[in-house]
Amino acid sequence: AWAGGDSLLDGLNPEQREAVEYRGPALLIVAGAGSGKTRVLTHRIAGLIGSREAWPSQILAITFTNKAAAEMRERVDQLLGQASSGMWISTFHSSCVRILRAEAEKAGLSSSFTIYDSADSRNVIKRIIKELDADTLGFTAAGVSNKISKLKNELADADSYARNANLSDPQELMFLEIFRQYTRRLRAAQALDFDDLLAETVFLFRAFPATAALYQRRFRHILVDEYQDTNHAQYSFIRELTRPIEPHIVAEMATAGHHVQSLRDANGGIPGASLTVVGDSDQSIYAFRGADIRNIVEFERDYPGAKVVLLEQNYRSTQNILSAANSVIANNFDRKDKKLWTAVGDGAKIIGYTGYSGHDEAQFIADEIEKLHGEGVAYRDIAVFYRTNAQTRALEEIFVRSALPYRVVGGTKFYERAEIKDAMAYLIAVANPADELALRRILNTPKRGIGPATETQLASFAEANGISFRQAMRDAGSLGMGPKVTGAILQLAKLLDEAALMLDPANPAGAAKVSDVLGFLLSESTLLETLRNSRDPQDETRAENVEELLAQTKDFVKENPDAGLIDFLTQVSLVAAADDLDDSSGTVSLMTLHTAKGLEYDSVFLTGIEEGLLPHQMSAGEPGGPAEERRLFYVGITRARKRLYLSLAMTRAQFGETNVAMPSRYLQEIPGDLIEWRQSPGMANSRGGTQPRALNARRDGYGSRGTGSDRFGGELPPAPKPKTEWANRVTAQVRDNGDLTLQSGDRIRHVDFGDGRVNQVTGEGTKRVAHVQFDKAGAKKLLIKIAPIEKL
Ligand code: ATP
Ligand code: MG
Repeated sequence: AWAGGDSLLDGLNPEQREAVEYRGPALLIVAGAGSGKTRVLTHRIAGLIGSREAWPSQILAITFTNKAAAEMRERVDQLLGQASSGMWISTFHSSCVRILRAEAEKAGLSSSFTIYDSADSRNVIKRIIKELDADTLGFTAAGVSNKISKLKNELADADSYARNANLSDPQELMFLEIFRQYTRRLRAAQALDFDDLLAETVFLFRAFPATAALYQRRFRHILVDEYQDTNHAQYSFIRELTRPIEPHIVAEMATAGHHVQSLRDANGGIPGASLTVVGDSDQSIYAFRGADIRNIVEFERDYPGAKVVLLEQNYRSTQNILSAANSVIANNFDRKDKKLWTAVGDGAKIIGYTGYSGHDEAQFIADEIEKLHGEGVAYRDIAVFYRTNAQTRALEEIFVRSALPYRVVGGTKFYERAEIKDAMAYLIAVANPADELALRRILNTPKRGIGPATETQLASFAEANGISFRQAMRDAGSLGMGPKVTGAILQLAKLLDEAALMLDPANPAGAAKVSDVLGFLLSESTLLETLRNSRDPQDETRAENVEELLAQTKDFVKENPDAGLIDFLTQVSLVAAADDLDDSSGTVSLMTLHTAKGLEYDSVFLTGIEEGLLPHQMSAGEPGGPAEERRLFYVGITRARKRLYLSLAMTRAQFGETNVAMPSRYLQEIPGDLIEWRQSPGMANSRGGTQPRALNARRDGYGSRGTGSDRFGGELPPAPKPKTEWANRVTAQVRDNGDLTLQSGDRIRHVDFGDGRVNQVTGEGTKRVAHVQFDKAGAKKLLIKIAPIEKL
């Protein structure tokens, strides 16, 4: 039964209510972290269904992870007091897979297409690079894969790349050839990579307006969480789905028997769906994957008349935590200032800690966690965040030694393990016979005496005869290879065909379940047995992992009695990093800052707050890099409800070297009175006169210990010493740039926006403003006094 509008609006402030109740074509909710954006989306969905304004099936809600989707669904059901089916609450990728499987034929695909993860697609690229000798031109699989991914996120394909590229440049020409081959091979294998899922759906909608119309008609309410992190392809997907349907298409739909009558407007068309997006441009942390803050900034232009709601009250964190977050993010230029406040009160101070080494830092964290635990904080309410995966090593070592229950979220993922990929490749080869990559993977796994030469021979035979690799395997008898090898190939081909037959719905014995098929494949191929009987001690764990996979398929079948092999494969392909979070387990969560988005914890440890880690050294050369890193820091800070720890180390072991580390520039941006600095035992000893060398070096490195040392309790080094002259000048300029004389025509460089040309200077004295056309970032107005710029 419908719980009623009142209870739905209980527990919402007036602005949140307004956002839940607004009815109109477009609604944008922009607000800082923890202000209830996700909560508003959830209540809005429940409101639409509960008031019978919409059927559950008319709703499409996009979340950042599958886990967030599951949570949202559960909350909606709770608010409604009943489970509602037919509602699509899912990630961009899951929604696109559903659409593409349903419309596969139009997209020129088999509905059982395989989804390649980044490792799969890199393997394909690696092979192409080798075949084309492209490594001699400096091409790497990682580089090519990033570039292709970026292009696809911009909805570019090889042909459109060719039109814009300078093909007299051998590099660009070679890249084009790799891109072409890559596209061709994925097609031949009936495979799509992650970026294709979105791009292909958008292409499908654009090429087949009548097909798009089916979805435009169906989804009357579209809601998107974390909108700040959408890239161009995702933006276009939403744009296509919210388009009005032309009267002539509506007429066709009516003829085809689709229900359109009640949706028609006066002209006979169907108006576009209502769109609600929520986001926080301060939390945009995926620019490196093509996410574009412009999508928020330009929302009002793309959806004229859109209603904008601002939320300012934060319900997650204490005032101390929020004040720190506010003052850090205020250092980013080109943002609308918004101040978060909370009614919770100041709360505990932020605790700062400088360890002597990464291990010392980890030990401090482990000790603090035990202390918190002793005070009644559950392990699952504690999280440790870091910028790079490499930082987990020291943490894990100490945590293991301290017998602290923890789990690394999205670390070496189960499905990325070689033995799991092997077992999965058997399933994929059964589901999608065209998938050559899967076939090649299992050809000699477990070992059956089929060497690389034979593999090449099969591939050439397939190519020469215009048949698939799989068919070439079936025809192995006519290749003139030795009887033993031929027998092994034929046996594998037969095994796969038999497994496919087991799944056939027309099978008189009844279609087999995923778990039965996997069990059959594992035993007939002797994959499991081989691992069990191996003398390699690691194979014991590998065997256990494969058994765990088998157990997972059994659970899957139990939970989804009607689902088939493809559904299982899809689910596995789409688990995102944050999805293996399990709140019910009593463990401390370790994860990267990127994975932490949207989550909240009672106590949060932000580690490695050092130059080179945060901001990460890779960001230094990128326009906008340091600003994006700051947003990442902001995301981290705002995950904490009650307690926040900021830690760093004086020396950091990385890539087998131990280097002197320097405090992150962002630490200076937090008012000193919000942080209580604690000391490393190592440092306390050092005052006794036996200072470790590195510590000496480090102290020297900071030069004057005068200004600013107070905010570090007088004990810690004050400002990080900027590493380069350029950074040095910029840091100085952030404070005062007043004497910089600029005139139109000058070229300048901005820390975030890159290079640009001054068109005009207006205003007087400290209020002088430069109007700059940046080469990449477009037109900006900068207050010369404080802008981090230098004249070129
Ligand atoms: P983020 O930007 O990190 O994604 P958000 O804006 O989506 O944050 P939510 O996760 O929706 O914020 O809310 C933060 C916390 O505050 C949640 O625990 C939520 O339940 C709580 N909350 C939100 N609004 C209210 C309210 N009006 N009353 C009480 N609690 C609230
Ligand atoms: Mg949220």
